[in-house]
Amino acid sequence: MLHILLYPRSMDSYTIRVFGDPVLKKVAEDVENIDGDLVSTCERMLTAMYQAPGIGLAAPQVGISKRFFVYDYGDGPKVLINPVIKESDGEWEFEEGCLSVPGLSWNIIRPKLIHITGFDLNGNEISIEADELESRLYQHEMDHLDGRLLLEYLDEDQQLEAKRILRTRIMDQQQNSGTGLTGFNSAS
Ligand SMILES: [Zn+2]
Repeated sequence: MLHILLYPRSMDSYTIRVFGDPVLKKVAEDVENIDGDLVSTCERMLTAMYQAPGIGLAAPQVGISKRFFVYDYGDGPKVLINPVIKESDGEWEFEEGCLSVPGLSWNIIRPKLIHITGFDLNGNEISIEADELESRLYQHEMDHLDGRLLLEYLDEDQQLEAKRILRTRIMDQQQNSGTGLTGFNSAS
């Protein structure tokens, strides 16, 4: 029997942009409309995030310079649109990776607690008080929306070393495209 898929379930997943791509350094713009296009964009981003695998993915990481991100820190897929950090408190050190800085991670100190607000895909206002990993995830994704990568938290020597490794990895990857990268559970 001929089976015709009118609405193929396997949409092309996004390619995650890596260090060196100028879109990662741009300050993203507010989302103006929460509509069906945004919903399908978020679905594709979640697919790319789970494939990577990672726990968060911001729109600039797939080449879209808009202020939203998808994430799942173990509580199911979620989206936060036009997020704003209202308050932050304390300090917490954690080993942090990034899908746009493949294969590397560093211990980075950030505020431990944050209060973040934004909107979900239904346009409802969201207000979250987050601690530790959840808080870290939001702060990391906010950085992407502001055009900041993890490398900016490193000292000069660490930055030079990281850039050297990344250049080599990116060149290797281009030469043997098709080989997957090892992901970190904490990558986002
Ligand atoms: Zn990241």
